[in-house]
Amino acid sequence: MQFTVKNFVACLATGCSHLTRHILRSEWHFSLFFQNAGDADSTLNVLNILDELLSAGTDRRIDHMISKGGSEALLNALVKNGSRSSPDFTILLPILYLVAKVGHKDGAIGKKAEEAGAVILILNLLKNNIQHARRAEACLLVIQVFAASVSTAKLIGSLNGQDIIYHFIPHYTTMNLQVIKASIHAFAALLSSKDNISSAVSKGYVSGLLLLYEEWHSKDTKHSAIDVLLALLHCFYKITRSAVGRDTFVSQGGIQLLYHTTQISLLNKCLESLVESSIQLMRCCLPRTPLPLKSDLSAYCFPLPGRQHDVFMVATSDERSGEIVDDDDDDDDDKLEEAYQETQSKDNDDDLETDLNKLCLRPAPDRPKELLLQYSRLCPELAHDFLEELDLSSQESSSSSSDDDEAENCNSLPPHSMREKNNNEFISRTQKGMPGPTKSGACLLKAKDFNSRSGILNTCSPVGKEATVARMEAKSSLTNDKQKDKEEGNGKCYNATILDHLIDIHGVAIPYHEPNMYRAAAIKTKSVPGFSTLAFPDIWGQVSPSGNEPMEPRKPNVQRQKVLEDIRRFLTYSDIINQVVFDLENSSLQFPHDKPGPLRFFSSFECGNLRKAIQVRRYEYDLILNADVNCSQHTQWFYFEVSNMVPDVSYRFNIINCEKSNSQFNYGMQPMLYSVRDALDGKPHWQRSGTEICYFRNYFVPVRGRPRTPFYTLTFTITFKYNEDVCYLAYHYPYTYSALRAHLRLLHRSIDPRKVYFREQILCPTLAGNSCPFVTITACPPSKCYKDIHQLRNRPCIVLTCRVHPGESNASWVMKGTLEFLCSSDPIAQALRETFVFKIIPMLNPDGVINGMNRCDLNGEDLNRQWCQPDPILCPTIYHTKGFLYYLNSIKRTPLVFCDYHGHSRKKNVFLYGCSVKETLWQSGSTVDTARLKEDPGYRTIAKNLDCIAPAFSFNSCNYMVEKSRSATARIVVWKELGVLRSYTMESTYNGFDQGIYKAQREPVLDI
Ligand SMILES: [Zn+2]
Repeated sequence: MQFTVKNFVACLATGCSHLTRHILRSEWHFSLFFQNAGDADSTLNVLNILDELLSAGTDRRIDHMISKGGSEALLNALVKNGSRSSPDFTILLPILYLVAKVGHKDGAIGKKAEEAGAVILILNLLKNNIQHARRAEACLLVIQVFAASVSTAKLIGSLNGQDIIYHFIPHYTTMNLQVIKASIHAFAALLSSKDNISSAVSKGYVSGLLLLYEEWHSKDTKHSAIDVLLALLHCFYKITRSAVGRDTFVSQGGIQLLYHTTQISLLNKCLESLVESSIQLMRCCLPRTPLPLKSDLSAYCFPLPGRQHDVFMVATSDERSGEIVDDDDDDDDDKLEEAYQETQSKDNDDDLETDLNKLCLRPAPDRPKELLLQYSRLCPELAHDFLEELDLSSQESSSSSSDDDEAENCNSLPPHSMREKNNNEFISRTQKGMPGPTKSGACLLKAKDFNSRSGILNTCSPVGKEATVARMEAKSSLTNDKQKDKEEGNGKCYNATILDHLIDIHGVAIPYHEPNMYRAAAIKTKSVPGFSTLAFPDIWGQVSPSGNEPMEPRKPNVQRQKVLEDIRRFLTYSDIINQVVFDLENSSLQFPHDKPGPLRFFSSFECGNLRKAIQVRRYEYDLILNADVNCSQHTQWFYFEVSNMVPDVSYRFNIINCEKSNSQFNYGMQPMLYSVRDALDGKPHWQRSGTEICYFRNYFVPVRGRPRTPFYTLTFTITFKYNEDVCYLAYHYPYTYSALRAHLRLLHRSIDPRKVYFREQILCPTLAGNSCPFVTITACPPSKCYKDIHQLRNRPCIVLTCRVHPGESNASWVMKGTLEFLCSSDPIAQALRETFVFKIIPMLNPDGVINGMNRCDLNGEDLNRQWCQPDPILCPTIYHTKGFLYYLNSIKRTPLVFCDYHGHSRKKNVFLYGCSVKETLWQSGSTVDTARLKEDPGYRTIAKNLDCIAPAFSFNSCNYMVEKSRSATARIVVWKELGVLRSYTMESTYNGFDQGIYKAQREPVLDI
């Protein structure tokens, strides 16, 4: 078909759809077309039709046109018509609008315009038509499009385009708002060049624009010029993308102006769109403030065997000292989160292991076979003499073997005994050649475990009448105390006496918890800083509040309000106190105890990790968490004590150095609060507390370097109930190492030894010299006949591990429930014991837990990335867990199931990650023919069953991908190297459910 203007127009006019389609798909070249369009009428017709075509269709039409040289054709038409001495604007205007429309989608339009000579032309057209609103607007729209390219923006700047446009922006008026808006956007577009920003700064345009904003904002009482105001904000946004622009904006009072106008805008719903943009702008401009610390490194340092401590002083590769990089970060949290989610899913696909050899080949064992024999001791049920035990009716165990240690000895103590071994520092070396601690920084806990810190003790005296009762009780129970002290073996354990008094007076009945048992366990716990105080909730215990809790509904605009409060810190100083009230590294900080004084903080106890507290305003505190030991990062978990509060006052707390990019705190999660007063009143609950909770990116940066590492603020408001109280705040229900030790003892005491075979052993000592407990649970054989003993010795093993990540305390509560269930008289538990042998390592990272760490072990590494080649000295628990699994392999008892319990900070529900070659290949889009691969689908059955029976379980959240980045995790190594088909990570939420019967609720974690 011949294409001439005439038949083109004719066909379109008669609605020839075939031709329209043809135009858009054919090799038809636009430039030829325009050359053919000689007369004005034809050109105009063509332009109108083109405009219609491009307006009606999707962007694909424009893309197609660009690919066929449409931009060049339009630019040529522009130059041809625009260079005439008196251009015909009836033709030129439609061309300009089309250039703007097409150019908007053409990334190379600037360059094309430069080549066609359209850049100078458009500036001349603008200059000559300043009095003609429509013409000027069209030129401005085209300039906006050209200036999207930095080099073209620069060229326009060098041709004084910026000045022309700047002087085109008028004082407040109600006339020609469209043109004004276009000119401001064009000015903003020119600011994509840093040269233009510098020139705008030096010519005083920044302050000029600020004055214009102020004027337009105050005079536009009818809100008809919101678009103009938004366009000005767009200019400010572009200006503040560069350091020089940002500095000028701030020094010219930009933040004050926006803060002031935002306060006004907040009063009027029509101005809503200005509020969000202004707040984001202010956030970008707040000066990047280093955390008020001497160093990013943890306040706790642990000298590692064979390593110089200063290894950790070396900055990581992305650390640069001092200077803050001019970043182009986008502070909009939602956008940030979207981007984050995108990278997550993108990474996910790139991250999948697609190398069939790596997926299917089993690597050679990481150690010689001879080293495995030592683990035979961890299968005591195989060697146990049930014949003898079945004859004994008493609970006295005769199983204390020579290499066994503390746990074993404790197990052989008669029930209810409070007797303790002497206080000599115990260093457990269960095996010759196993790593013991070097002369470590870990100190033995002194016996002052129930510290007489006034806070805690004060709480018992002012409970009104109870104070008198307490003293009376204390007298009458003196004999009792003496006896108990005697039992303690040291006779001077004053604080234990106080604890007993408290128990006598207030009573405490918490399942599987005894304060004295806890105390006894805690005395042996070794922390890096040498903690000598126990947190009250840990020693006293806690029970879940009854019933399910609804999630905290999020009020609208909390974040906005909090961010504005933070911005105000930079503007008004009258109410700013900025006084350090707590510093882990400066114990000499003293404040008078009289009220109203600042809150008092404390965190030198197991799992505690508050490093510094700064009173910002009268009732507002910035809190800084301690980094993981020997690290300068991994802050998220928190646990600390607070006292000296005034009741019924709202205190705002800001934890300012969180690291995760988003948090369940934005989706209904609340921090945990434990009140000692309430506990003594018979309500020993960790309760979800706090209002006005949100989590957002802040303006803090590390003390040194890593300027691109953003910090996030978790902010919440707490109103304390009592005057004289000591409260504890935590990320989640704390679960200490000492709690685990005490719990295992109580659990052992609670079982029926004729039915349940329960054995606590030590896997190995940790770096700091704590023992890593190892538990075996199975059913005792019903009789001593060979058949029953044989059945026991052939039961498949199920290996469960937990708490490799110390911040995931929820995983420990799930493990606690697992242990209690497995030892219970429930018929299912009984059946499970009769079918399987459970091998449980309930805390793979005791040192991390004890020292209030979030992610790592004392060696500064994430232990769940060490499974490929675990270092026997630096990662003993992983090394020996893996060794034990190798041992099971070597005696042909490869576990049926391996499951590592974790907590998930961003997702809801409970779910499993497993491993499957086929699913990984499918997901990655690999070309490998999976039909030929054989894979036992058994890895899916557990998830399917849980989906049927456990309402908290989310089948849809499970996946079975083998990721490269996770190749050294327990799940993947146990699957690949140990050949365990059902090898899982079980993730439990920190915060409730969004499905099934628990939807929008937080089932107390203990009940999951
Ligand atoms: Zn984890």
